[in-house]
Amino acid sequence: MTQVLLASRNAKKLEELRRILASTADTAGIEVVGLADVPPFPEAPETGATFEENALAKARDAVAATGLPAVADDSGIAVDALNGMPGVLSARWAGGAKDDLANLTLVLEQVADVPDERLTAAFVCAAALVRPDGTEVVVRGEWRGTLARKPRGTNGFGYDPIFVPEGETRTSAELPAAEKDAISHRGRALTQLLPQLRALSM
Ligand code: IMP
Repeated sequence: MTQVLLASRNAKKLEELRRILASTADTAGIEVVGLADVPPFPEAPETGATFEENALAKARDAVAATGLPAVADDSGIAVDALNGMPGVLSARWAGGAKDDLANLTLVLEQVADVPDERLTAAFVCAAALVRPDGTEVVVRGEWRGTLARKPRGTNGFGYDPIFVPEGETRTSAELPAAEKDAISHRGRALTQLLPQLRALSM
């Protein structure tokens, strides 16, 4: 079995990443390990201007510390009426505490006067795979939709209760996990990484 480290401390995100990888028979031969399975190492703060830079930095840190190939994602919500913000600052939008409810409440306040037809947004996920030999690949998945005026649903995490995916009336927090995984930004990004992940075990 080839071990691959999933370098994320966000429990909900990790759950989705693991589920998406596990549901793909293609990744057979790969054992996914988490940060709890390796000795602790310092992680640099996320200072990149783009999702791609942050995902690569997280994966590089993990490879340097463990010697294992590592996958990391950086993700967030880009609201068109806010010029793409919160973007890379999504996790900390209302301050430093990573409080999902405070974050989404602040976004809803900021778009309170924006008309419905301009309430478009996208979830974005950059996923990076860095190998111990230094080779790197980074891919991006996007999931477009609109913002709901009030939170609905209890599945998922983060901004899911206010994101209504294109073609849906439910928020992504009202979608069963498997439905979200099949079409989400994270699902789309990881699907693009699968050929490279498969190649690791060859
Ligand atoms: P980071 O990638 O750890 O910097 O944090 C990503 C942040 O973006 C999360 O804390 C959420 O607020 C938001 N986010 C990313 N993906 C999702 C998702 O699938 N649903 C809801 N919020 C998300």
